[in-house]
Amino acid sequence: MTASKQQAASGTLYTVSAPSGAGKTSLVAALVDANEALRVSVSHTTRTIRPGETDGVNYHFVHKPTFMTMLEDGVFLEQAEVFGNLYGTSQLWVEEQLTAGTDVILEIDWQGAQQVKRLMPGTQAIFILPPSRDALRERLTTRGQDNEAIIEGRMDQAQQEMSHYVESDFLVLNDDFATALAQLQAIIDCHRLHTQQQTQRLASTLADLMSPG
Ligand code: GDP
Ligand code: ADP
Ligand code: 5GP
Repeated sequence: MTASKQQAASGTLYTVSAPSGAGKTSLVAALVDANEALRVSVSHTTRTIRPGETDGVNYHFVHKPTFMTMLEDGVFLEQAEVFGNLYGTSQLWVEEQLTAGTDVILEIDWQGAQQVKRLMPGTQAIFILPPSRDALRERLTTRGQDNEAIIEGRMDQAQQEMSHYVESDFLVLNDDFATALAQLQAIIDCHRLHTQQQTQRLASTLADLMSPG
């Protein structure tokens, strides 16, 4: 992303990272439902589609050669290999949303969050933790979308993913869902109240208040 495009952007970019099963997809879906002008980026992935997932909604599911061509063409703002699958975020879509004043959430792993923070230092990095390892395993099991071998693989990776919480700006514990959702909402609200953001949003009110007489 070019420096001039970064400066023109008026929406806030958030990354949300968490070990698989911590609840980030459910929390982000609820957050986006409750907030106009907040959208979640749909990543491209080479992972196979799960029962209940829809192409273009949960992910853009692509074959590896297509992903590699997109990578060579510079389509991705960031990309990473997670659990043996490739994932990437569309740079163009993110730029368009931010420039239009829309806040954007990227649900991406720690490797991607690091890349995005380096490219766009104003990005707010949020990390979501489960209340315990037992709760994490329970959630992966009750979600019912991955077999036992895949769940074990994700549990093995969880500790490494979680160790990257130190790189985040905000840390949210997803024990009680409603509490975690309210905390995410507070992060969004806080950023929307920054004077720089409010100056754009309240332009006509400020013009009226500042007019002579
Ligand atoms: P879930 O997190 O258990 O629902 O599993 P997913 O298969 O949806 O995601 C697997 C991992 O890939 C997670 O760590 C995601 O944060 C990460 N991921 C998803 N999309 C992207 C992306 O566009 N870029 C990067 N870097 N990571 C992604
Ligand atoms: P992720 O996207 O991080 O892999 P999901 O959003 O798919 O996680 O959540 C994993 C499972 O845990 C889902 O079945 C979800 O309904 C459940 N879950 C999410 N948050 C909570 C919570 N606070 N308490 C209990 N179950 C939860
Ligand atoms: P799942 O395949 O279970 O949906 O996701 C597995 C992991 O990949 C999750 O940790 C998720 O956050 C991560 N992930 C999903 N999309 C992206 C992406 O576009 N970029 C990066 N870096 N990670 C992603």
